[in-house]
Amino acid sequence: MLRLYKPIQHDIFKLHTMLEHLVCSVWCKASEGETCESKLNDELKEIYISYEWLKNEIDEIYSEFVSLSDADKQSVKNAFSTNNKIEELCNGSESPIYLDALPEIVEKNIKPLLVDFYEKLLERAKVPGTKQDYYQKLIEENELQYCPCCGLSYFESEDSKYREAFDHYLPKSKYPFLSVNFENLVPLCHKCNSDRKGTKDPIKDGAKAFFPFSDNNHDILIDLTIDKSKDLRLLEKEDLVINLIGDTNKIETWNRLFDINERYNDVSRKLTKSLLQRIKRRHAKFAEEKNNWTYKDTLKELINDYEIDKYEDRKFLKISIMNDLMNNTNLIDVYR
Ligand SMILES: [Zn+2]
Repeated sequence: MLRLYKPIQHDIFKLHTMLEHLVCSVWCKASEGETCESKLNDELKEIYISYEWLKNEIDEIYSEFVSLSDADKQSVKNAFSTNNKIEELCNGSESPIYLDALPEIVEKNIKPLLVDFYEKLLERAKVPGTKQDYYQKLIEENELQYCPCCGLSYFESEDSKYREAFDHYLPKSKYPFLSVNFENLVPLCHKCNSDRKGTKDPIKDGAKAFFPFSDNNHDILIDLTIDKSKDLRLLEKEDLVINLIGDTNKIETWNRLFDINERYNDVSRKLTKSLLQRIKRRHAKFAEEKNNWTYKDTLKELINDYEIDKYEDRKFLKISIMNDLMNNTNLIDVYR
C-alpha cells in the first residue's frame, strides 16, 4: 500500500458484530434443550425472520453444532476471534487458523453462508448501511483521488454513483469469518484488485503485509535510477531500476500481490519524456528572472512544489525521476 486508509466509523460495521454474535454466542453455545431462535439478539432476529433461506441455513448449522463436542465449539470460537485480529495477522504477531484445523462444518456449511452474508445481505440493504455509502464516506474522509494501493489509477469520487470494488484483503475463501468485516474490505482500483491480486493471500506462509487501515505515518521511499547512457525518451524496462524502501517484508508482499515494481517502471518510463520537456519549459522561465539559475535550482523548485500534493497525478514518481536527474542535469538539454 502506497498509502493507508484513515479508518472511519460507519453503521456497516454492525453486520460483522451480528456475525460474531451468531458464531460465538449462538452456534458455539448450541445445546439440546434450547432453540436457535431463543438465543438470537434482537438485531439478528430481525434479519433471521425476514429471510427464509437465511433462517434455514442458520437453523441447520445450529442443529449440527448441538452434537459438536465442547472442544470443537471452542476451536471455532477461538478461530473466529484469532482470524479477526487482522492487523496482528498482517504484522505476524498472530498466526491464522486455517479451515483444515476446524470441524468440517465450518468449510462445508458456514463458509458458503458467510459468502452469502456478503453477497446477498449487504446488497439487499436489510442490514445497516450500504457499501456505496460507506465507500463515499471513506473516500471523502481520506480525500482520495487515486487508488491508495498503487497511486496510479484514478478512483471513483465520493460524488460518483459508481464505486471501486471492495477487495477481501485476506481472501474469504480461506478466512470466511472475515467475509463482512470492513477492516478486511478494502476499496482498490480494478488493476490492483482484479488484474493483479485476485484471491492471493497477503499472509501466505507467514508473510507480513501492510494492514490497509491506520492513522499512523506511512511513507514509502521510491528510489529510482535511470541508465544515463540511454536515450531518456526511449527507455526500456531494464534501463530503469526501482527500489521500494520501507518495511522490507511488507513491501515484498505489496509487490508480490500488486506487481508494484513493474508497474512503476512502466509508468515512470512513459512519464520521463514529458517531464523532461516540462523541466525545460519551467527552467527557461526561472532563468529569465534570476541570475545564475541552474537546472538543479529548477529541479529543487519543482520537487518542492510536487511534494505538497505528491499523491496527485503520479507526482510521487515524477519526484523520484527528478531526484535521479539531479546529478545529471547536463542530460536535460540534450533532448528537444
Ligand atoms: Zn491500484
